[in-house]
Amino acid sequence: MNTSDSERLSSGFSQMGFDLAEDPFAADVFVLNTCVVRQSAEDTATGMLGRLGKEKKNSGNQIIGVTGCMVGPEKSQLKRRFPHVDVWSGPQEFGPILELAGVRHGLDPSGCLSGLVPETPHVSSFIPVVHGCDKFCTFCIIPYRRGRETSRTSSEIVHEAEMMVARGVKEVTFLGQNVDSYGHDLRPRIDLADLMTMVHEINGLERIRFLTSHPNDMSVRILEAVRDLPKVCEMINLPFQAGDDTILANMRRGYTARQFLQKITQIKDMIPGVTLTTDLIVGFSGESDEQFERSMDVLRYVEFEKVHVSEYSYREGTFASRKMKDDIDRSVKKARKAAVGELQEEIQTRNNARMVGSRFDVLVEGRKRGRLHGRSRGDKLVYLNTTSDPISQEPRVGQTVEVEITESSPWSLEAELVEIHVKKEKVPVA
Ligand code: SF4
Repeated sequence: MNTSDSERLSSGFSQMGFDLAEDPFAADVFVLNTCVVRQSAEDTATGMLGRLGKEKKNSGNQIIGVTGCMVGPEKSQLKRRFPHVDVWSGPQEFGPILELAGVRHGLDPSGCLSGLVPETPHVSSFIPVVHGCDKFCTFCIIPYRRGRETSRTSSEIVHEAEMMVARGVKEVTFLGQNVDSYGHDLRPRIDLADLMTMVHEINGLERIRFLTSHPNDMSVRILEAVRDLPKVCEMINLPFQAGDDTILANMRRGYTARQFLQKITQIKDMIPGVTLTTDLIVGFSGESDEQFERSMDVLRYVEFEKVHVSEYSYREGTFASRKMKDDIDRSVKKARKAAVGELQEEIQTRNNARMVGSRFDVLVEGRKRGRLHGRSRGDKLVYLNTTSDPISQEPRVGQTVEVEITESSPWSLEAELVEIHVKKEKVPVA
């Protein structure tokens, strides 16, 4: 979400005539886009603000703007603590920063504020579709900082997706803290399935993904859209966070382990071959060894393709910080995280090894250490071994190619090129 916001703000500055500075501390405008989902991230942001205060004393009239979820609705404390900051803007509030830069530098930002779309977007780009969250999990600061769920209109999103495709984007990922709840606050009411159906019509767009889901809001309609719309990738990130019912209740997740597993079964039944990934917290308040083992049981049972695991950490401002103890020793949390890592390495080694010899499509996304890489529809990272034969054609970034998998590791696959697909798009009828 923050990467996407920074790209949009950067596009606004660029339209006003600003360039990216090589040395950010010497820039006319310094914008710090903050993430405070963890206390350590907030500490990093405040450390940077302290440094900026000193730099500003030396350099004079630099504009300092702070955005992102450090900036909640109540700003007076922040203003007192960091008086050298010129403008505080909440997430996605680009106007105040651009306007101040305009006033100080004699530029008019009014034409740059609507439709901020990344100027040179990555071939696979993000589109935020719903901001904030209404769920209030006890460990999470997001609803307090990013506010309640607010969906963007479908026309705005479709227009943005069209512009991105015109600028070379082939894959869009719809973003939301709880993307499955998209549209419930719009009138007439629409949902994520409707939105995917509309964006699916865009010529030149090849893939659609969405992040992040909540098990209670993943509707049959959304699953049908994943199953039925050819451009929607068969991949779902469904956080479970814990495998024990008492811990889940203390987290206020709104489902039991059994209900979560029923949802997984429903997804697998409806979308054969679906790739499933998840998020898990270890060492939440009071989590015993036995309760942690229940999380491991879920991992063993589902065999997710990827697990984003984090150690629970005290986060001031959350319900858990006020009412629960952060009572699991750091070393225990670390050991549990390592155990999850080991189990996942086993699962991913096994799953990826099964793919050797298979053929599928990969969207080429870039080059790392001289090698082209891309991702499958199931989000597998694939490195391409292209031939050194000078007359053979090498795929370009943004092309979809058919590959044959030759080697595997737990984290990625290696492949030989089979064929470069030349896409034929529908020609609009005049
Ligand atoms: S659903 Fe996600 S973003 Fe919303 S409160 Fe829970 S963890 Fe935070």
